[in-house]
Amino acid sequence: MEIPKHRHCLNCGISIPPDQVFCSEKCKIEYMQRRKRLMRTQYMFLAIAVLIILYYIITIALKM
Ligand SMILES: [Zn+2]
Repeated sequence: MEIPKHRHCLNCGISIPPDQVFCSEKCKIEYMQRRKRLMRTQYMFLAIAVLIILYYIITIALKM
């Protein structure tokens, strides 16, 4: 039994030829937009974490 070589679309997961990453241009655009949004969310969390750390450092520094 031979399993035909294939990949899965990074956006919707359907089977596609091994030389492709996405099943369509639409899926590619969707994936890029989703990733961009995800990265923005991660940056936001990072910024909040930095602010909290800075707040603690300032609070500790003021007590000394
Ligand atoms: Zn797709």
